[in-house]
Amino acid sequence: MGRHSTDTEAGISAAVSLALPHVDTAIRHTCATFRSIGPAPAAIHRPALAGRPAAEAISTPADWSHLPELGSDHHRVDPRGLLVRSLRFLASGITADGELGEDQIEFLQSLGRDFRKFGIEDAHYGALALAIRRGWEAAADAAEPLRHARMPRELADAVDLCCHVMAVSAAEDAAAGMPATVAAKVIAAERRCSDVIVVRVQMDPPRPWWPGQYVEVNTPYTPDVWRYLSPAIPFDEQGLAEFHIRGVGTFSDAAVRHTEVGDVWVVAQAYGEMQLNPQHDAILVAGSTGLAALRALILDLSIHAAKPKIKLFYGAQSPDELYELPGLKGFASAWDWLDVVPVVEHGDAGSAHNTATRTALDELPLRHGRVADVAVEYVRDHPRWLDADVLISGGPKMIAYSAEAFQRAGVDPAAIQYDRH
Ligand SMILES: Cc1cc2nc3c(=O)[nH]c(=O)nc-3n(C[C@H](O)[C@H](O)[C@H](O)COP(=O)(O)OP(=O)(O)OC[C@H]3O[C@@H](n4cnc5c(N)ncnc54)[C@H](O)[C@@H]3O)c2cc1C
Repeated sequence: MGRHSTDTEAGISAAVSLALPHVDTAIRHTCATFRSIGPAPAAIHRPALAGRPAAEAISTPADWSHLPELGSDHHRVDPRGLLVRSLRFLASGITADGELGEDQIEFLQSLGRDFRKFGIEDAHYGALALAIRRGWEAAADAAEPLRHARMPRELADAVDLCCHVMAVSAAEDAAAGMPATVAAKVIAAERRCSDVIVVRVQMDPPRPWWPGQYVEVNTPYTPDVWRYLSPAIPFDEQGLAEFHIRGVGTFSDAAVRHTEVGDVWVVAQAYGEMQLNPQHDAILVAGSTGLAALRALILDLSIHAAKPKIKLFYGAQSPDELYELPGLKGFASAWDWLDVVPVVEHGDAGSAHNTATRTALDELPLRHGRVADVAVEYVRDHPRWLDADVLISGGPKMIAYSAEAFQRAGVDPAAIQYDRH
């Protein structure tokens, strides 16, 4: 992929740095140009409330107004900051002979697949490259009027190259028969406790994932917000999926409150590499709905011939929030390779209002504390588990705390898996 003469690296970084302080101008001009010259968006699924005809679920948007605004309040992260970091990351990855570094290529490939959910396919990237050029020129002109009317050749080549990588990955994804989006009709919605809902959906067409992965989901309650959810079951060829959602903010609170049977959600890309090695014992640590990814892995393991020992520490704030304990008790009774340890920070077994949870706690003794502390204490008391794989799934703080606690206890960092963004 060598396209530049040597020593272009610094030049590209300098050119990007020149435009970055004027990133708003760059974005405005890029978007305006793209809207005016780009091909129309490709057909995508849109979320819908129950009662809308199914045929309306997939449509070709008339324009790009469905693209989330960069300044939208629904973004947890600062989107402009993210964009600037991404540009710096890309600029830093252009090697001396004009090639892209491996990490940068992977990042762009992932973006190319990801943007398909907005109706951006390979055919759009030529227009995008031109639009980015216009955006840069407007920003550079704002920085040093008249001195930077044209994008430097090396930077223009780099932009073309980045767009080319995204276009190829979008085309490959489409050629592999991977739909950009699929409609996922809600067929069951169970509110298990005050802030957790378990939702089963029927995808049409089925869109595959590996157990332990997470997918992008869009709902009709917050239609401009996409969030990651981990299917709680392995991929099912009939298109069934199950999601466990805890209300902690804009997207999740709305899903917990408003989900009804018949609503249509939209599912897009799958990501993540968490997996169970059937040859290794494993400690699984779940914080609340972080259980979903681990449950899919356990279910997948149940159909494999080789079954290592699995010790699942399942944590929540209080006994009633152990929303999936009765089901897990069933698994532990049926499979002698699986042990389940419920852990709560407050409340004893008798305080559970849910009868099935109380009954499950008769057989699975409740432990108290942070789920990671209880799991690490177990490993310290049973040193043979120090060699086990450790899979952690939960909120960002819980993951950070748990990973550190296991490392401090002497678990090899390479044996610890989690997915975090
Ligand atoms: C790999 C991955 C898999 C995920 N799988 C699931 C899942 O199966 N079920 C599920 O309910 N959520 C899951 N999430 C979290 C989900 O994607 C959203 O981040 C979450 O629903 C919050 O979005 P929001 O718009 O409701 O709130 P926001 O306003 O975006 O966030 C509110 C606050 O919640 C914090 N937060 C984010 N995720 C969590 C969490 N899981 N627990 C506690 N606090 C959190 C944020 O840091 C922020 O401080 C997953 C996230 C990742 C990265």
